[in-house]
Amino acid sequence: MNYYGDAVTRLIEELSRLPGIGARSAQRMAFHILNAPPDRAQSLADAILSAKTRVRRCSVCFNLTDDDPCHICSNEHRDKSTIMVVEQPRDMAAYEKTREYKGLYHVLGGAMSPMAGVGPNDLTIKELLARAAAETAAEVILATNPNVEGEATAMYIARLLKPFGIKTTRIANGVPVGGELEYVDQVTLARALEGRREI
Ligand SMILES: [Zn+2]
Repeated sequence: MNYYGDAVTRLIEELSRLPGIGARSAQRMAFHILNAPPDRAQSLADAILSAKTRVRRCSVCFNLTDDDPCHICSNEHRDKSTIMVVEQPRDMAAYEKTREYKGLYHVLGGAMSPMAGVGPNDLTIKELLARAAAETAAEVILATNPNVEGEATAMYIARLLKPFGIKTTRIANGVPVGGELEYVDQVTLARALEGRREI
C-alpha cells in the first residue's frame, strides 16, 4: 500500500527484500533513515555501492576482498603450511574471530548438494587441488559444515587430496551435528579446530 508516497514506499520495498527483514522491520528502518541526518543516509548509500563495486573474490583463496590477493593470503606472518577449507567467507570470519588459527584459507563457495544441483565443478575444488599441488601446504583442514552436504564434500575432497600425500584433517565433533559454523560460539569452534583428526 502506498501510504507514504512513492519514495518512501520504494525504500521500504527495497529494505524488505533483505534477508530476515519483514515488512515491519523494513518500515522501521526506512523511518530511521528518513529521520537521520542527511550525511548518515549518504554514508549508508555509499557503503552499499562501494561494497558492491569494490569487493571481489581473492584469486588465491576466493575470500571476499578489496585487494587481490586478500589481506590473509598476502600476510607474511600467516602460516603458509596450513590451508583451512571452508564453505563461505562468513565461516572464515568465524574462525578468524577465535584468533586460534594462523594459517591460510580456501573458500569453496558452498557444499556439494545433489538436491540443490551443486556439484564439484560449482565449487572451487579444482583451484584447491592446484594450490595443494603448487604450494608448500603440509596440512589441509576440512572445516566444511557438520551437516550431510558438508560431510560429503569433506570426504570427496579428502579422497582427491590423497595422491598429494598432504596431511588431511577434519574438524572435531565439537560443532553440533547439523549446525552451521557461523552460529557456533568461538570457544566451541576453537575446540573443534584443536581436536581435528586425520582422515
Ligand atoms: Zn586470499
